[in-house]
Amino acid sequence: MDHFTYRGGALFAEDVPVAEIAAAVGTPFYVYSTATLTRHFQLFDDALAFADHLVCFAMKSLSNQAVLRVLAQAGAGMDVVSAGEYLRAKAAGVPGDKIVFSGVGKTADEMRLALEGGIRQFNVESEPEMIALDAVAQSLGLVAPITLRINPDVDAKTHAKIATGKSENKFGIPISRARDVYALAATLRGLKVVGIDVHIGSQLTELAPFEAAYAKVAELTETLRADGHEITRLDLGGGLGIPYARSNEAPPLPSDYGAMIERTLGHLGCEIEIEPGRLISGNAGLMVSKVIYVKSGEDRDFLILDGAMNDLIRPAMYDAWHDIVPVVEPAPGTATARYDIVGPVCESGDTFAKGREIPPMVAGDLVAFRSAGAYGAVMASEYNSRPLIPEVLVHGDQFAVIRKRPSYEEMIARDSLPEWLE
Ligand SMILES: *Cc1c(COP(=O)(O)O)cnc(C)c1O
Repeated sequence: MDHFTYRGGALFAEDVPVAEIAAAVGTPFYVYSTATLTRHFQLFDDALAFADHLVCFAMKSLSNQAVLRVLAQAGAGMDVVSAGEYLRAKAAGVPGDKIVFSGVGKTADEMRLALEGGIRQFNVESEPEMIALDAVAQSLGLVAPITLRINPDVDAKTHAKIATGKSENKFGIPISRARDVYALAATLRGLKVVGIDVHIGSQLTELAPFEAAYAKVAELTETLRADGHEITRLDLGGGLGIPYARSNEAPPLPSDYGAMIERTLGHLGCEIEIEPGRLISGNAGLMVSKVIYVKSGEDRDFLILDGAMNDLIRPAMYDAWHDIVPVVEPAPGTATARYDIVGPVCESGDTFAKGREIPPMVAGDLVAFRSAGAYGAVMASEYNSRPLIPEVLVHGDQFAVIRKRPSYEEMIARDSLPEWLE
């Protein structure tokens, strides 16, 4: 469920007409709903009520300061994957003891930053990383709390680019090596093992792969405890999928997911962490764009929008589907037209949808891409020298620009000429 609905023939973001935001900030832009963000966080928080727990928002999905502040105020922790994300989380008011640090390539500088600034735990993904972290912690006279990210070798049954839990993926420590690596960790004075971490992929639309992975985590917990390790915390990653095509998808709900976690892991008495990104932010955002031209081709019609792949890359990168809806609700019974919906960028890959059935459009009409909150703005670039598009946050009947559109001058001014070219 989200808070983008038609009222009296117009698409609203909470209590604000989307067309009013478009008139104020220009198109294209992203708009996020505070109520949807907090609702989705709350669903996860409630689903884990059976245990001590922390819901750490995977902020790589949407990392605007205002969004982080909304979630931090609701009680969320953050899952970060870089120094930049760590600093963004801190700047938004998230305390270090609610930040977990994931990622396969943490540098010594990033480790130092997080150790000095405060960190709940590092999710360590390899032996070399573990040894490097031990050295950094000892050099600071500190002890780094860690989990080891285990690769459980299960098939997440999702798009290949976002599956992370098979042995061929670069992520985590093979489960077959886990006992040896935990034994080594126990000998390193700069580290304190607190638990186990697992994250098998993104946009999972069934619980079975999670359950298979978590069953392996349960077994490993018992084994490691028998080996003498104190396993008190289980970080179960993110990855629960969302319905991108509302007409035919119904992925499991956070409550189903929580019940499955309780069933598989509840008996271990561990603190539970999860790292959802997409399910919190995805349906909390729209990308709104304007039709520039309707162009008739030889065998098809094109809707050419002012938004492009540089603004929302998911269709080009993951063959992703986004529902695309008119901002003015069509009259009941309006026949649909069929379009290839494209952006202005000079690549055939700049195609949002092929042969999409939507109500007939004319130049100047506004369309909204649904489910664009996650992996939208954060993956945008200025390809074709198109300035990053603005982000807007809605709260009830209020809205505010939370990242402004840079001017062309600002964009160009980021380059500099070497002395010999001046
Ligand atoms: C990307 C990622 C997540 C979030 O995945 P979603 O599919 O957005 O929920 C969580 N944890 C880790 C380690 C990740 O890399």
